[in-house]
Parts: sequence; C-alpha cells; structure tokens
Amino acid sequence: MIKDEKILKALLYSLEEPSKEQKERFGKFLKNKYGAEAELEWIKSDEYAGGFRLQVGSDVYDWSLMGRLRQLKETLVRVPTDQGDIIPLIKESINEWTPEAYAEQIGEVLTVGDGIATVSGLEEVTFGEILIFADGVRGMVQDIREDEIGCVLFNEDEDVVQGSAVKRTGRTAGTPVGEGFLGRVVDALGTPIDGLGEIEAAGYMPVEAQAPSIIDRQPVDTPLETGIFAIDSMFPIGRGQRELIIGDRQTGKTAIASDAIINQKGKNCICIYVAIGKKNSAVVHMQQSLMKHDAMDYSIIVTASASDPAPLQYIAPYAGCAMAEYFMHQGKDVLIIYDDLSKHAVAYRALSLLLDRSPGREAYPGDVFYLHSRLLERAARLSDNIGGGSITALPIVETQAGDVSAYIPTNIISITDGQIFLESDLFFSGQRPAVNVGLSVSRVGGDAQTKAMKKAAGTLRIDLAQYREMEVFTQFASDLDDQTRRQLEYGQGLMRMLRQPQYQPKTQHEQVITLVMALAHTMQGIATDKVDEFIAGLIEMFEREHAEICERIDREGVMDDELKQEIIDISAEYRNGFD
Ligand code: ATP
Ligand code: MG
Repeated sequence: MIKDEKILKALLYSLEEPSKEQKERFGKFLKNKYGAEAELEWIKSDEYAGGFRLQVGSDVYDWSLMGRLRQLKETLVRVPTDQGDIIPLIKESINEWTPEAYAEQIGEVLTVGDGIATVSGLEEVTFGEILIFADGVRGMVQDIREDEIGCVLFNEDEDVVQGSAVKRTGRTAGTPVGEGFLGRVVDALGTPIDGLGEIEAAGYMPVEAQAPSIIDRQPVDTPLETGIFAIDSMFPIGRGQRELIIGDRQTGKTAIASDAIINQKGKNCICIYVAIGKKNSAVVHMQQSLMKHDAMDYSIIVTASASDPAPLQYIAPYAGCAMAEYFMHQGKDVLIIYDDLSKHAVAYRALSLLLDRSPGREAYPGDVFYLHSRLLERAARLSDNIGGGSITALPIVETQAGDVSAYIPTNIISITDGQIFLESDLFFSGQRPAVNVGLSVSRVGGDAQTKAMKKAAGTLRIDLAQYREMEVFTQFASDLDDQTRRQLEYGQGLMRMLRQPQYQPKTQHEQVITLVMALAHTMQGIATDKVDEFIAGLIEMFEREHAEICERIDREGVMDDELKQEIIDISAEYRNGFD
C-alpha cells in the first residue's frame, strides 16, 4: 500500500536534529526500500537517546539504545539451553551479533474490551498471526478489514489500552510439541499447569494445519478397542476414524472417553484429552482417574477451562490436534478426545459476536461448520509410505433434551463417521453405558473389528432391535404367549449383558466369548439379576481352564466355526452346572 504512493511520509524521532547529510542518507535509504521520494519530518524526542527511530506507515526502524539492546536480548534468548555448558554459546552469540536497523511493524490499539482488540496500522498482517501487545500479552488476528484488524487476546491485561503499541511476530499461533508432554496437563498454548515443572519441547507446530490429502491416507481397517462392550461389539471404532459421542448432560459421555483411554494401556496408542470449557475440578478428576489406572504415562491433557477467555477455549482443540499430529507423523497411533465441541462452538460464537460478525442460525457465525470440519478432517490414517500413523478422534457433543437435530449436533454428525448416542432414560434406568442401539452407528463398521469379534457379534444389533420393538407393544399386555415371553427374556438378558461399570474395560476374548454364548441363547432361563454373576463365572472358568482359547482370540483375532462351536458347547455345559 505504501509503495503505491508517490510521496512517502516518514517520521524521524531523535534527540538531536539530523544534519543535512544525514537527512540525505535517510532519503536514499527510504527510496531504496520503498521506491519513492520520502518527506522526512523530524520530531524531537528524548526517548531515543543515542539513536533514532524511523517510522514509515506501520514500519518502524528502531535504532535507539533500547532497540539495540532488545535485539541483543532476542539473540540471546535463541541460544539453545540443552547443550551442556551454555556460556561459550552465549559468548559466541554476542561476538557474532551485529546490530542492524531492521523494520518492525508496529500498530496501535484502537479499542479493547471483552478479550478483543481492534488495531490500526499493520497493513501486511496475515489471518491467524500472533501479535504482541504491551507487557507481552499475545493475541491472534481473527478479522482483517480495510482499515482495522480484529484481534483476540489470550490473556487480559490492564496495560493493553487504547493507543498502546502492537507488534507483528510474523508467526501464526502454534504450540510446543513432543514426548515431554506425555503425562502432563497443559493449557491451550502448551504451557504446563500441573506444577510439575517446565516441559522440554521437541518442536513447535502450527495450531492450524492442513488435513492430510486423499493420497496421503489409507482406509481405516485396524480396530481401536475401547474395551466398552456395547461399542466394540456394535459400533466399532477404527484407527483414524472420527466417532461422535453425543448425549444430554450427565449421560456418561466423558466416562466413555476415559474408559477408552484406560483401555489403550499397552496397546501402543497415545491419548490426548482436550477439555473445553470444563470446570477445573472436572479436569483434575480426569487426571486423577487416569493416574489411578496407570493411563497418564501415555496421555496428555489439554485444557481451556470455563474460566479461561473464549479465545483460549477456541484454540484448545486445534492445539491438541497439533500435538497429536506430531506423533502421527512419526508413525504412531493417537486417540484424541474433544470434550466437548458444543462448548467450543459457544466460545467461538462469543468471539464472533464480539468481532461484529453477523450472527446466523442460533446466533452462530456462518463458518461454524468449517470450524469443526477443519478440525475433524485432521483425523486420519496415513498411508504406509508416510509412516502409517493415525489420529482417531472422539468428539463429544452435548444435546439439550435429546435433540440431535439442533444446529451443532447435525453439523458434527455429518462430519463424523458415526455417532454413539447416549440416552438419559436408559442412563437413569440403570442401563449404563446408556448407548441407544437404534440411533447409534459406525459408518466404518465391520472393517474396524477383528474377524473374531465380527463373527461373534453377528445378529446382536438385529436381536436388540427386535427386542425393543416387542418391548414397546407388549408393555401393557398381561398374558403373553410362551414364544413372546422367551423373546423378551432373551432381549432382557442381552441388555443386561451390555451393562458395564466405569473403569472396567473388557478384553477381546471376554467380549467374544460372552457374545458367542449369549447369541446362542445359552442364558435363556437365567434370571436377569443373575446374568452378571453367570458371565463373570463363565469368563473366569474360560480363563482358568481354556486359556489357549482366550489367548488365541486375543492374539490372532480370528475364530473359525469349530472354535465357535467349542465355545458354545463349553458354555452350555457351564450353564447346566450353574443352576
Ligand atoms: P457432563 O454432561 O456433565 O459432562 P457426562 O455426560 O460426561 O456429563 P459423565 O460425567 O461421564 O457424564 O458421567 C456422569 C456420571 O455417571 C458420573 O458420576 C459417572 O461416574 C457415572 N457413570 C458414567 N458411566 C457409568 C457407567 N458405565 N457405570 C456407572 N456409572 C457411570
Ligand atoms: Mg462430561
């Protein structure tokens, strides 16, 4: 913009008036830089003792004592601290350092409030760039207009006031990443908040990144076992898949996430739990339960709590995803949980309204779909020639009174590869996890199951669907025929079988054996309140007396007809002895 103008206006601040010769040199410098004649105006200022400050538009050349000292400081800060004795390195840096008058673009704060600042100047700023305000407060450019820039602030500070200076950094928002983050709780900018000291980062990754392209991907076909019976058997999740967990408040959504993390122990899968807009106490609770089940060693918790400013809540899932990408690009498998994206959308709506964007449906801005699609598209299974790593994403969404057709739920349902729908009624009737079998789906399906599990799960979904229907139209009937009564009993047994307490993930063989046995109607006639006892006894007997069967299922993940029949026969025998 500056370059187009014929005459440039430049301001020169210094204590002494520059000589004619000096003025000529400045003129030459500016002509070189901007290709136009400059009109130099001198302003007397004692702030720049021992130097000067030249300002052209929003470009500032700081050649004062303070400016040079700042340059030196920035050079020293870049000295690596992880290489033993750093004094020689510091000496070297100082020796090599030559001060130079480099341009800094400095803008001015026009207005500030509610975590948003509008800034003038800074013509060349890019979307998403980080700006530095007074006192080191950082902000991110979220809105570029003709004459001003809208910027969200990551922390509030009373020094950021109208008229204060803003500096460009030329960097987009990013987060430190690395193995050092495992076992830690960090905020949305990667700063540890668990009081366990600093984290040594292996790198720095941009928070917003392009999702892997089609060519870089391969189909999802490796199971990611959650250890949750109802999910692994009917709505299997594969590595690289995106499966939504959706339900009203207090229906066990977070419980599914934490159980899935706990079940990854020893399975070579790194877990990242991103808490958005949660209470700090809930995050601590999550950390403690992961620690209690030895799951924290391979997990990272990223949190932007309810008390954090909206910009941090907005950025948290992207930061978590960047950390996950670091591992994925090394060929590792990662499970990431976004708890929850409805709060994320609300934070983004608050931001957008403050930035004066026009509100759309439910007052969300028009790009709220893109907000989540660009996040979830980053979950992928990479092709083998670029390492074969994966990110499996389990976003969580909270519904109001079971309304899945609200704006945010429909958006996310359409972005993900399926959803696990949790229902309050089921939850309160004691059916936990409260998975609604009719409304849940996994669009990757059987590909994400082992052959053994696929074969064992067989007709489970259909049987349950039949049971539900029959239950509805027999609920007022007083006398039922024998056939119907048996059907109902069978269904009740299956439902009972799917109940599972928290923190008790089930192994593959446990699930496969239970399924084979139950679908062969072995439990017919066992009172519902005895089902748990029966299954526990059966599995214990299998593990004790038929360890080779259990091991084969776990190791090979296959089950031929012969083995299936064997399991049915052994179960039937156990059933006879049970009464
Ligand atoms: P919120 O909407 O508050 O985030 P949520 O849907 O995430 O709630 P959770 O916090 O996971 O729900 O669970 C709610 C309560 O139900 C918790 O006290 C949890 O311990 C309990 N709970 C969840 N799953 C089970 C389960 N399978 N068996 C027994 N209790 C469970
Ligand atoms: Mg929750």
